[in-house]
Amino acid sequence: MESLDEILRQAEAAHGHLCAGQILGVRMALLGLARLGIADPRAADRKRLVTFVEIDRCATDAIALVTGCRLGKRALKFRDWGKMAATFVDLSTSRAIRIAAREDSRELAARLYPHLETKSQQQMQAYRELPDADLFTEQWVRAELDPADRPGYKAPRIVCARCGEGVNFGRVAEVGGEQLCISCAHPGLRYWQPCDPPA
Ligand SMILES: [Zn+2]
Ligand SMILES: [Zn+2]
Repeated sequence: MESLDEILRQAEAAHGHLCAGQILGVRMALLGLARLGIADPRAADRKRLVTFVEIDRCATDAIALVTGCRLGKRALKFRDWGKMAATFVDLSTSRAIRIAAREDSRELAARLYPHLETKSQQQMQAYRELPDADLFTEQWVRAELDPADRPGYKAPRIVCARCGEGVNFGRVAEVGGEQLCISCAHPGLRYWQPCDPPA
């Protein structure tokens, strides 16, 4: 991998700004890759890794950048748990490590860098300099991936009997003998509701 500074430059360009969350995310991803022994996630090792992220904040963009895992490649899995944590899964060995940011690292940053003006500056400095053990907890875990959740898995699409929209494998519910999409089978789960067009 490139140096931390070089990766942070790329993260800044991709994310639109450099922030404490970016630095923390970059460090978290580098630690995960190091523990798994994955040296080149964006090229030679690009099919080895799946990453679960547990928050939709700045750090997640950085993790996607460093690991090369993207939603559109099915290699980035989002669990909306609001936690600054990620699990890195090596598909070639089935080893997985979950890494979480330590909640006390913010206080540590304030204690160590009181001369820096803002919390954000203190955190950015801390996240650049402190050893991994001060920033993260880590745990080896098992994270079973259903074959259908792996990148590259292929299966036929189904057409919903009610709305006529196509649905990828595994996202269909059988209701009264009909194959329905989730939105037709469970309207209560919809994130949208039909309404009149804007005037
Ligand atoms: Zn940010
Ligand atoms: Zn439908």
